[in-house]
Amino acid sequence: MSFRNTWIADVLRAAGLPVVEEAGWKSAGRAEIRGPFQGVILHHTAGPAAPKGGETPSLNVIKNGRPGLNGPLSQCYLSRKGVWHVVAAGRTNHAGPGKFDGLTDGNDDFIGAEMENAGDGKDPWPDVQLRSAVKGTAALLHYLKQPARRAIGHKEWATPHGRKIDPSFEMEPFRVEVGAAIAALGG
Ligand SMILES: [Zn+2]
Repeated sequence: MSFRNTWIADVLRAAGLPVVEEAGWKSAGRAEIRGPFQGVILHHTAGPAAPKGGETPSLNVIKNGRPGLNGPLSQCYLSRKGVWHVVAAGRTNHAGPGKFDGLTDGNDDFIGAEMENAGDGKDPWPDVQLRSAVKGTAALLHYLKQPARRAIGHKEWATPHGRKIDPSFEMEPFRVEVGAAIAALGG
């Protein structure tokens, strides 16, 4: 059975977030998803730092992939200004090997959200981007009827531990805010 997640843009927009639907997103990504997504994995793009890199320097890579890894590389892409670009409704290559809560197929079980940031600990995370990340993640989880616990960092998913460092901010305070945002959406 195919679970094409053509609801993503509407759910983000209903949460009051700025959304750009990338051309062809509803048919982008592979079809073989076994069931509804179980959570969201947050990433940073490790693209060029602001301001040189501008607003969306990694968007094309997320849409089209890179040598050795076919795109799309996530369902969602978040710009520095907090704009959610919806890239794919199907399965994407974002998670790699890992595990969480007994789940072991990250690309099958989790929406990938790639956030533009160099990930070097120096490139700042603008407030507008972080607020949008919290709100959007909460909206996706609320739709999926999953708790804030299922907002995890790639660094928490990936095995062996230490294989990934993204995102470069701490996940536990992020989850607390996501939990509050889910509650504000009514559960
Ligand atoms: Zn990642």
